[in-house]
Amino acid sequence: MKTHSERLFDEAVRYIPGGVNSPVRAYQAVGMTPRFMQGATGPYIFDVDGNKYIDYICSWGPMILGHNDPEVLKSVVEACEYGLSLGTATEIEVCIAKFICTKIPHVEMIRMVNSGTEAVMSAVRVARGFTGRDKIIKFAGCYHGHSDAMLVSAGSGVMTSGVPDSLGVTKGATKDTLTACYNDLESVKELLDANKDRVAAIIVEPVAANMGVVLPKPGFLEGLRKLCDETGSLLIFDEVITGFRLSFGGAAEYFGVRPDLVTYGKIIGGGMPVGAYGGRRDVMSFVSPAGDVYQAGTLSGNPIAMAAGMTQLQILYNHKDKYKELDRLGVKLYGGMEELCHQYDLEAHVNYIGSLGSLFFTQEEVIDYDLAKTADTKEFARYFAFMLEQGIHLAPSQFEAMFLSCMHTDAIIDETLNIFERYLNDTKIV
Ligand code: PMP
Repeated sequence: MKTHSERLFDEAVRYIPGGVNSPVRAYQAVGMTPRFMQGATGPYIFDVDGNKYIDYICSWGPMILGHNDPEVLKSVVEACEYGLSLGTATEIEVCIAKFICTKIPHVEMIRMVNSGTEAVMSAVRVARGFTGRDKIIKFAGCYHGHSDAMLVSAGSGVMTSGVPDSLGVTKGATKDTLTACYNDLESVKELLDANKDRVAAIIVEPVAANMGVVLPKPGFLEGLRKLCDETGSLLIFDEVITGFRLSFGGAAEYFGVRPDLVTYGKIIGGGMPVGAYGGRRDVMSFVSPAGDVYQAGTLSGNPIAMAAGMTQLQILYNHKDKYKELDRLGVKLYGGMEELCHQYDLEAHVNYIGSLGSLFFTQEEVIDYDLAKTADTKEFARYFAFMLEQGIHLAPSQFEAMFLSCMHTDAIIDETLNIFERYLNDTKIV
């Protein structure tokens, strides 16, 4: 007898490619069919068959306050009273832009868009417009959304499905995208030397979180800053995951490295479809209609989305202690998993920082894309299935992050660690 989820998936694949509206939701990498979810509250998510899970996806990052935060919800309901979309300038857009620009020193101007993909695509365009240069350097294993130029050695779902690039992306669209090795400044220098005065920007996830979580080595981000200063290229931090998560000012604040441009998504929309890009005033002044770099959006700055984002950002800014608490919970959860791995002699590594973490099934210390790929994805699939059956909702891929929210508690983490220990026992890895 099929579950409701299984029946829905049977139907979904008839009408939606692969049955899902975004590839990593498909459970393809773990050889299962997806659980269809009905709703979520706090740290929990519920499927259509009545199962309850501790959620470590948190909508892939946006739900840092936990699901269905009452204040965010209230602000959305109130905003709805005034209309779902006005297609005009509105006061709330000024409020959120001013709020961010006055709180984050490296963001002097900001433009709202509808997704992380759009944010990156637009930031790259303005970097090219400002510098008058064509080339972009990105890093293997970093994911910057699905715009054509960024689908080169990309992480996340592109990595999970084993397709490094995508059909339908022309050579012309990616010929100016150069790929360096994460944590390897030498590889960046070589590209800069070979493309003198032609590199508009270096774009990087300051903490890579789309090949699993991979931390920047000490000096890596500082080194990128220096190389940009020496060559006149712009430094773009893609903070779609890390923004407002590692600290209010994201990875830039956390590591004390100032990017020229930054991209946001996820948390900035409080769960609504929002992205943004911002940074130096002289660069952002090139964006239309102030300047000649065209970028637009019918629903950009949508008042409902802005209300959700504004409320979530205000809560985070006014309760900075939440970041300390997330850090503490991260150490407890990820450090606890690491310790258990040692105890049970599991050949694995846990990479983590703040509320982000990944368990890699490899004996290698994962510091780049090639090392991430040494992970045993079959073992990951077994681990994933075990944890899911025990009520732990993880991303269905070795190459994604775990996300903690402010609603995860010590008791919830203890429960998770107990289940993880049961996995270590039950799969007889000892
Ligand atoms: N950049 C990074 C670092 C991301 O993690 C993602 C999505 N996970 C994106 C860009 C693209 O964002 P979106 O899915 O909202 O288009």
